[in-house]
Amino acid sequence: MTSFKRLPSTVTPIHYSITLRPNLTSLTFSGSEDIEVRINSDTNEIVLNSLEIDITSASFTPQNGKKLTPLRIQSSDETETSCFTFSEPLTSGTGVLSIQFTGILNDKLIGFYRSKYQSREGREERYAAVTQFAATDARRAFPGWDEPAIKATFAVTLEVPIDRMTLSNTDVVSEEVLEDDPRVKRVKYSTTPLMSTYLLAFIVGEFDFVESATTDGVRVRVYAPVGKASQGEFALSVTAKAINYYNDYFGISYPLPKMDLIALSDFAYWAMENWGLVTYRETALLMDPKNSSSMSKQSTALTVAHEVSHQWFGNLVTMEWWTHLWLNEGFAKFMEYLCVDQLFPEYQIWMQYVSQTFLPALQLDALHNSHPIEVPIGHPSEVNEIFDEISYNKGSAVIRMLHRFIGDELFRKGMHSYLSLHSYKSAKTEDLWTALQESSNKPVRDVMSTWTLQKGYPVISVTSRRDKDSVILSLTQEKFCADGKLPANESTTRWLIPISVIRASDPNQIAVEVLMDSKTLDIEVPNVSTNEWLKLNASCVGVYRVNYSPELLSLLLPSIVDKTLPPLDRLGLQSDVFALVQSGRTSTPEVLKLMDAFANEDDYTVWNAIDGCLAKLNQLLSHNSEVLQLFHAFGRQLLSKTYSRLGWQPIKGETHLDTLLRGLVINRLISFGDQSVISEAKNLFDSHCAGSHVIPPDLRSAVYRAVAIDCNDKTFDTLLKLYRESDLHEEKRRLSLGLASVKDSNRIAKVLDFALSVPISDVRSNESVLVIISVGLTRNGRDIAWKFFKENKDELRRRYESGTLIGRLVKHITENFCTEDTLQDVQTFFTENAFPGTERTVKQSLESILDSLLQDVQTFFTENAFPGTERTVKQSLESIRVNIDWLSRDLQSIHAFLTKRS
Ligand SMILES: [Zn+2]
Repeated sequence: MTSFKRLPSTVTPIHYSITLRPNLTSLTFSGSEDIEVRINSDTNEIVLNSLEIDITSASFTPQNGKKLTPLRIQSSDETETSCFTFSEPLTSGTGVLSIQFTGILNDKLIGFYRSKYQSREGREERYAAVTQFAATDARRAFPGWDEPAIKATFAVTLEVPIDRMTLSNTDVVSEEVLEDDPRVKRVKYSTTPLMSTYLLAFIVGEFDFVESATTDGVRVRVYAPVGKASQGEFALSVTAKAINYYNDYFGISYPLPKMDLIALSDFAYWAMENWGLVTYRETALLMDPKNSSSMSKQSTALTVAHEVSHQWFGNLVTMEWWTHLWLNEGFAKFMEYLCVDQLFPEYQIWMQYVSQTFLPALQLDALHNSHPIEVPIGHPSEVNEIFDEISYNKGSAVIRMLHRFIGDELFRKGMHSYLSLHSYKSAKTEDLWTALQESSNKPVRDVMSTWTLQKGYPVISVTSRRDKDSVILSLTQEKFCADGKLPANESTTRWLIPISVIRASDPNQIAVEVLMDSKTLDIEVPNVSTNEWLKLNASCVGVYRVNYSPELLSLLLPSIVDKTLPPLDRLGLQSDVFALVQSGRTSTPEVLKLMDAFANEDDYTVWNAIDGCLAKLNQLLSHNSEVLQLFHAFGRQLLSKTYSRLGWQPIKGETHLDTLLRGLVINRLISFGDQSVISEAKNLFDSHCAGSHVIPPDLRSAVYRAVAIDCNDKTFDTLLKLYRESDLHEEKRRLSLGLASVKDSNRIAKVLDFALSVPISDVRSNESVLVIISVGLTRNGRDIAWKFFKENKDELRRRYESGTLIGRLVKHITENFCTEDTLQDVQTFFTENAFPGTERTVKQSLESILDSLLQDVQTFFTENAFPGTERTVKQSLESIRVNIDWLSRDLQSIHAFLTKRS
């Protein structure tokens, strides 16, 4: 393989006039383009990107010169380029490169691709032609300079059947029926601003829409499949408000005259921020007031706010290369919360941020196989793998920390100057730090580079001593590792950490704020009364774990029970202790004891984080039925108070967060086998099917899971029937994920086949991955899903290799492996039957069984490459190892603790 090179800069584009004519029956397209280019230095070659495109003819006409035909055109699948070689040098100046070409409307959900739908009148299956160009697939639709920093203007023309609708980034300037073919119309779009290729979009199909406008008159529309336009109302109102919000926040007006959003039935991502034409998968955009849950409404608000923020951060100012992708995504992830917090204060969205975004980032980033936020990217195929929780979640977490460090006002001022300075251009991470450093006068670059260029994050150990009325906190930082094993070469890694301390006498006020810039630091907290608790990292803003001395920790415990510790701090404390348990710094019974202190907890956000820990332990202990039973009993008891408070029926006037909490608690109690909850779910399901009582949308996921677990044939078929009858993606998804929890192995196999029954399928291709993942996350489904994955590897690879889905599938299908039944047998036998003097031998043989399991996963991925998932596989293997060590370390003490408590 030749090493990757960016396109040469000898020739660069200024303006593209592109005409595309998709054939929606043969699923091909033909196109022509005139690209006005600048020859920057004499050359007889023009090199640009193209892939799976047949170039039928080409010519170059220099300004004021005569037309030249290239001697040869060489296309390479490996470099994804075409090279036009001319017999004489093209001299500096401008000219027009004209290219005619043909291509395919593929079924891979990238480039210019097909998306299936039902026709307006009847049951005819038709195809829409739609685009997904990020990261590097514009080259599948037209030859061009497909790199983010090479911006140009674009005038798009689409030639399509007269009864189809078209959309592109800008407004239509003219539409005419072709004289020589009255079945075809030619639709011309106005010229775009200077922009990157990956943000272009074209759509041809049949859609309905709803319309609104922003306060300064930008037209906003949400397009939906025919008949579903009203489901776009919620997103429509969020979009208009979000544009108003960012206009004000950034101090720069949205530059296009219109903003369209469209729900596509086949879509590999969640949403894509094409400038002025944002594409979404249906579930992400459409809301049915009768059938959509509060959670999905909230998620739509966040997604819309995310994509709208990209219109500035990403589209107006674009990353110079994929190395800076994190900035685009981390920033948009941060902004979506800032915006939704303003639009929907009742969501308390920053609190939810911590459990949904912050904690998952910390979990992944504790692995040795994590990566720094900023990864040097060469070949674009490396891009997909870093569209991960590090780019989005940790990226946003360090920006949130920075936002707090310099304050909203100066942050906003810096953003404004960054966006103004680099408008219609590209920028690097350092350019943002420069702008924020100038606005704040704080060492932004030094602080941030420790967070973006190094992988991982610190754990801070804290001890205390009294000095008259003061308490001196002694802090020591070192890199936190999920397995507790700090490699020698990382033992000196340091971060510049903004530290905050809160105290019992005024829990909502930050008592001390300092920047920790060395391995150790002493902080004096004045006037501390006896037994006053002190806590680091107010509201979990700092990206670090805290390991408290037993004295400091014991002072904090009562403040959890009486809830004087603020919710995010309760949550943070619990999460830190859990992480310390996982890494072997403390034992699992310690965190179980801590969880007991949360029996009176009433905050959804806190429960959400605890629920994550309960789910993790449930996975871990699922290999040992006796301990699992005890653990389930423990969990049921822990949740009982909250369940009795909330019950099944929504309480009039309850908060948004209580609504979410009810679904969470019921769901978890079902996982813990709570028979009264399960039978209540079954009753609700029966009356739902009989038409006498509709299950509230917020509880449907839980109910479907409950009835699927031990279902008979009749119920199984009813779930499938509901699936087929439903018109709402969200409902279909709930039903298919419910089906994934069946226990019976024959039915598990049926569900997996159902997931893969595409192309003429019930499960749209992007949803089938979720179903396989969900099966893999169940105790009974784990091994079957793994076997299924191995057996269908070629089909799965074919379908998903060119997106991020395959990485997610690989991750979830493997990382929860912990032990095999054989291992369990051996372990149980030797736990129950001690043979003095053989402990070491037993341990060694356990190790080797575990190794063979690891080997199985490792060998499979060595022999069967899934390009772009290499890092994910390594992370999974590491997670398996962490689980193994954890279980062998703590299984006995967990067993003892739970037995004593039951
Ligand atoms: Zn994004």
